[in-house]
Amino acid sequence: MTVVLDQNATPRTAARSAPTAKPTLVGLTRADLSQCLKEIGVADKALRMRVNQLWRWIYVSGVTSFSSMSNVSKDLRTELEDTYSLDRPEIVSEQVSEDGTRKWLLRLAKSATDAKAPEVETVYIPEAGRGTLCISSQVGCTLTCTFCHTGTQRLVRNLTAQEIAAQIIVAKDRIGDWPDSAAPGDGRLLPDGDRKITNIVLMGMGEPLYNFDNVREAMDITSDNEGLSLSKRRITLSTSGVVPEIARWGAESGTMLAISMHATNNDLRNELVPINKKYPIEKLLDACRVYPGLSNAKRITFEYVMLKGVNDSIAEAKALVRLLAGIPAKINLIPFNPWPNSPYECSDWEQIERFADVVNRAGYASPVRTPRGRDIFAACGQLKSESVRLKASERQAPKASG
Ligand code: SAH
Ligand code: SF4
Repeated sequence: MTVVLDQNATPRTAARSAPTAKPTLVGLTRADLSQCLKEIGVADKALRMRVNQLWRWIYVSGVTSFSSMSNVSKDLRTELEDTYSLDRPEIVSEQVSEDGTRKWLLRLAKSATDAKAPEVETVYIPEAGRGTLCISSQVGCTLTCTFCHTGTQRLVRNLTAQEIAAQIIVAKDRIGDWPDSAAPGDGRLLPDGDRKITNIVLMGMGEPLYNFDNVREAMDITSDNEGLSLSKRRITLSTSGVVPEIARWGAESGTMLAISMHATNNDLRNELVPINKKYPIEKLLDACRVYPGLSNAKRITFEYVMLKGVNDSIAEAKALVRLLAGIPAKINLIPFNPWPNSPYECSDWEQIERFADVVNRAGYASPVRTPRGRDIFAACGQLKSESVRLKASERQAPKASG
């Protein structure tokens, strides 16, 4: 179901932000904000204080206008207003699933190398007591996992840290997840007053470890405890298995980790998750074993998509359990989410249960992930936008100044 946006439903912000030509401060790091303030003449000695003020207005209060920044001097507010904006990515469409899952197609600002404004998808999944936001790290993906819809879309480009963080801001606007949201918001199962976004998963479009620095910066913004304040324990990065970057991610960011496992032998994993040809299962599991901070309370999630007749035998369930022995692990069985012309079918429910039984008996609790938002193609691996990459010959060379 595609809904027409009802502007009255969220009186605090226009659902479609009317993008101005002015660069937006939303989604910037402290260092970037500092630079922006410098450029409008804020003195060095005042920078830290001013950055802290902006930071709180943007990431704690979620204001959409400089005039709301009551502790910022009037002169500076005018200066900010003249030079910058607080624009969010534009919500092009919003789809609401029968189960309350919401999928937004977001249009980002066009950069110099973009053929047109790129579009990405962000998904909000409300559940009892928690709300998970699934965000994208790239437009498209360089990898070509055979069961994944995003994998059929070539990589258009990496998202900037700002564009990754801004997905959280726009979602908070839309569901009313700011402290003084005028609208009760729509966290569905979450009582009013509770935070509606409690967890972030990097499981949208793209391979986050192929956009390492930007994703790390964005997660630093997200986990800053004077701002969005989502602890790293509540952020999960999912990777198809970019082995050399796993250790680096552990050292430099240290969020929770999820691995797209999907097969128990290299032949099949080479086929399903082709990056396996470069980094086979043994190397991947070695990287997992040394991921920092693992314990029973902090486990790696192994995702396993259930493909009928491909990877769903009982022998494979047993092999999976054997492979993961000794690694603090959770196993998430994901019923395959079909997409138009997808080459697989989802395993039968009885088979998923039999597979889950083996996994359960090995001590892994409640491993089947209920598909959310399937009716609106918002479930894992169904995301794809129409953005295409500009051929080099079509890219406009940045104009020389002067
Ligand atoms: N690129 C990263 C993160 C995005 S995909 C990765 O591959 O891990 C998020 C999860 O959805 C991954 O586990 C991925 O394997 C899974 N997935 C992809 N397509 C799917 C589909 N059609 N049905 C179910 N899960 C899928
Ligand atoms: Fe890319 Fe992940 Fe999809 Fe594979 S599963 S194609 S890595 S988004």
